[in-house]
Amino acid sequence: MKKYSGKRILVTGGAGFLGSHLCEGLLNEGNEVLCADNFYTGRKANIAHLLGNPYFEVIRHDICFPLYVEVDEIYNLACPASPIHYQFDPVQTTKTSVHGSINMLGLAKRVKAKILQASTSEVYGDPTVHPQPETYWGNVNPIGFRSCYDEGKRCAETLFFDYHRQHRLKIKVARIFNTYGPRMHPNDGRVVSNFIVQALKGEDITVYGDGSQTRSFCYVDDLIDGLVKLMNSADDFTGPVNLGNPSEFSILELANKVIEITGSKSSMVFKPLPQDDPMQRKPEISLAKEVLDWQPEIKLEDGLCKTIDYFKSII
Ligand code: NAD
Ligand code: UDP
Repeated sequence: MKKYSGKRILVTGGAGFLGSHLCEGLLNEGNEVLCADNFYTGRKANIAHLLGNPYFEVIRHDICFPLYVEVDEIYNLACPASPIHYQFDPVQTTKTSVHGSINMLGLAKRVKAKILQASTSEVYGDPTVHPQPETYWGNVNPIGFRSCYDEGKRCAETLFFDYHRQHRLKIKVARIFNTYGPRMHPNDGRVVSNFIVQALKGEDITVYGDGSQTRSFCYVDDLIDGLVKLMNSADDFTGPVNLGNPSEFSILELANKVIEITGSKSSMVFKPLPQDDPMQRKPEISLAKEVLDWQPEIKLEDGLCKTIDYFKSII
């Protein structure tokens, strides 16, 4: 661990998949980390190994309510991210993005902290432009099953930019594309965790639609590196900036890779495609390369091996 940086950093959603890796990375860099989480989808097991660190603190808190703490930086990650979880209580999902962002922006304003929003590729909806650059405004259904998440995140971006223009807040907006790795929730229904768990248990691999829809999968370590680089970028760089891996795979290709690496005897079954499921998604990352000197380093096969090892250890 590095020497104490003197920086106190709040991570909302710090007990979740990405949040727990971020807390760990920030502690390793010598920062003091305050994790605020209501444990809606996050788990204590994700941060149990950090609890002995004197620079780490956890508070059970729902960001839909105000929070009074003194910090230098805020990473706002709180929000359920998988379709199963964000559609379970859609009103709470929108509240978390909208009320939660207002509360965290208000906190940043009061203590003059720099604040980063974990936005998403979902702001592009089912894109008509491919790959998606930050300048694309998106193709989002405002009244569908995914809207609580997509429109909540879009409104959060609006709030971040209005606080920046109106109150001169230092903001950073990251548009995160599909990310995977250890500590994904085994039952959250996301494609990487579903396929790995099904393959390891010898169950059918559930491909939605004909599996020709595409996604670009970024390994968690690469993503966290990008988030920290964004937070530490020049004050006049607000983003939004895409963070994701531009290598694009069809869902069928992913299923085949998981079967091959695990050596599973599972077979594929085809199920109906969920409503508003985007047909293709791939980030245009030239802005991140140019401004943050960032690009993903970890290949899908290597990241899948590490993720499979994790799931073997918990199943
Ligand atoms: P996750 O569900 O594992 O983590 C979200 C965390 O936020 C959980 O610990 C949950 O308990 C907490 N939370 C939810 N509502 C809260 C509230 N009202 N108050 C306090 N805590 C709350 O999901 P994740 O994959 O780690 O995603 C983290 C962030 O990154 C989310 O904002 C998500 O939208 C964004 N993101 C993730 C991905 C991805 O592929 N993982 C892609 C795009 C964007
Ligand atoms: N998917 C699938 N089988 C599953 C889970 C997901 O075929 O068991 C598909 C899903 O329909 C989508 C893609 O995989 O086309 C990625 O889904 P995920 O929920 O991981 O992320 P998102 O749709 O939010 O990108």
